[in-house]
Amino acid sequence: MPITNALKVSISIGAVLKFSTLDYPGKLSAVIFCQGCPNNCVYCHNPDFIPAKTASSINFDEVVNFLLKRQGLLEAVVFSGGDPLIQNDLYEAMFQIKSRGFLVGLHTSGVNPKRLKEILDITDWVGFDIKTTFEKYENITRNKVSAQLAQESLNIILKSNVAYEIRTTVDSRYITFEDLKGIAKSLKGLGIQKWVLQECILRSKSGDQKLLLPNTDEIEQLKQYLKVEIRRQ
Ligand code: SF4
Repeated sequence: MPITNALKVSISIGAVLKFSTLDYPGKLSAVIFCQGCPNNCVYCHNPDFIPAKTASSINFDEVVNFLLKRQGLLEAVVFSGGDPLIQNDLYEAMFQIKSRGFLVGLHTSGVNPKRLKEILDITDWVGFDIKTTFEKYENITRNKVSAQLAQESLNIILKSNVAYEIRTTVDSRYITFEDLKGIAKSLKGLGIQKWVLQECILRSKSGDQKLLLPNTDEIEQLKQYLKVEIRRQ
């Protein structure tokens, strides 16, 4: 489909990963990192994507043209960030990609429930980040409204039919085993059956430092609440 027939999309893109086996479950995907995030997480691994710049460093049409050349090879396109939910034209961007035959994925922390609701009918899969217990959210996100927005967004996902994954990055400097137990309890209370714990690695010039995941005994305790998968880097 020629892109000249499509509506002009204004979406701020910080970077594109042209090939990934990790960002959409079981599919080869490309990842569009949207620029801008209202959170400012203490451990953010993509801090360059936090400022919401007005001008995109990458043109959306160029991304679509690249994807057209990869049709048949790439199966999915994931909108990541930053947080894609702050992009006004997210629905149109997703629509244009989905109409070319790609599955559409979303990585989000649920920063804009209203937009999440708008785009869910054309979204095939959501990777949803839970930062910590909702009571302590601000300690990680440094955003006073983040807990409320994340809860609203999570409820929207749970009421929809979209496929999703709930995951938490375990940075042991900011999240304790008691916090993890608190998250597990509330996820179970919401009827969520599976939870992914992502290992956090602190990278510095003096070397990488692994921030320890819960130990084997603690993981077994968490499994009393729901199925737990460990994702190591
Ligand atoms: S929500 Fe994600 S992108 Fe935004 S500051 Fe937190 S870790 Fe970084």
